[in-house]
Amino acid sequence: MIIGVPREIKNNEFRVGMTPAGVAELVVHGHTVLVEQGAGEGSSFTDEDYAGAGARLVSRAAEVFAAADLIVKVKELQPSELPQLRAGQVLFAFLHLAPDRSQTEALLRSGAVCIAYETVELPDGRLPLLAPMSEVAGRMSAQVGAALLQRPNGGRGVLMGGVPGVPPANVLILGAGSVGCNAAYVARGMGANVSVMDIDLDRLRQLDRLWGNTVRTLHSNRHDLERQVAEADLVIGAVLVAGARTPVLVTREMVAAMKPRAVVVDVSVDQGGCVETSRPTSHDEPSFLAEDVLHYAVTNMPGAVPYTSTLALTHATLRHTLALADRGWRQAVQEDPSLARGVNVLDGHITHRPVANAHGMDF
Ligand code: NAD
Repeated sequence: MIIGVPREIKNNEFRVGMTPAGVAELVVHGHTVLVEQGAGEGSSFTDEDYAGAGARLVSRAAEVFAAADLIVKVKELQPSELPQLRAGQVLFAFLHLAPDRSQTEALLRSGAVCIAYETVELPDGRLPLLAPMSEVAGRMSAQVGAALLQRPNGGRGVLMGGVPGVPPANVLILGAGSVGCNAAYVARGMGANVSVMDIDLDRLRQLDRLWGNTVRTLHSNRHDLERQVAEADLVIGAVLVAGARTPVLVTREMVAAMKPRAVVVDVSVDQGGCVETSRPTSHDEPSFLAEDVLHYAVTNMPGAVPYTSTLALTHATLRHTLALADRGWRQAVQEDPSLARGVNVLDGHITHRPVANAHGMDF
């Protein structure tokens, strides 16, 4: 099979759909991999790295789209790419179709088979191709929070780990899922005083078994949350209710009662955010002040660390790419119900119920 890896052209997107290691694996399986020149640049992979792994480098994305049976990308196709997708071709990428009517219609018109990373789902409901990005964002959130707490960056001038005789920063993490646990991992490693709140007691039990009393686990309820937020130097928002808007847990009044120049990192902002005063920001202008509290609410945090993010993402996608290439998409999804959940568009029809519902279309 011919697999194509075009360069990502979405604004500020530096990841790439396949690493040289992935290319090498596909080539060993007898496939041909076309990589657009410069595709790996933003993630620190050179054209020579890809050529050395056995890829055929081509100078234009159009050549990739014209020849490939399977297109492997990171982000959804952009308007200039959509007309190049053709019937019978397989697209494997993040698609996020529910809020995107024009992309959905273009994919339906193309006649291609479109498999979305974000809806590949394990039987227990976990989303294995989304999880690596939550791990990255979670770990980053503690780093970003630590930097923003520094006075020259606008924060209240507190060192995460404190020093002998001076207490560490109080870090409050809302949500003990992928983002929350990874945030706790780094904040704890920096020596901060870490508390994690969740409504799911089993999640808290897991943390307790892992770290004992070096991380405080607290049941999330409005009464206790109010007090914890007021005492925090850094609040990390990591709450998710799958398929729904994030519940607003921290109200404007609670933010106003925080210490002056404390910091909020609302990772959950991509689903609406769990802090009333947060609004989506970008890497160009990541933070702002509200109620004298510094807020950071970048919607694509992993984009700041493309090398790590590309590796983490492609480690999770590669086995599915191999299955699609080795067995063809039909057999691959027949044999793997988790991958089958990823098929969003097939032969001009939507094949994922929530996406169909979002557009009021037949399923
Ligand atoms: P997850 O499902 O693994 O964890 C979410 C946790 O929130 C669960 O443990 C759940 O029990 C808890 N929760 C739900 N309601 C709660 C409440 N009322 N109080 C306390 N806890 C509650 O999700 P995740 O993978 O950790 O993702 C968290 C959020 O981060 C999502 O919105 C995700 O889209 C977002 N995210 C953002 C970025 C970014 O760049 N900004 C990157 C990755 C993930």
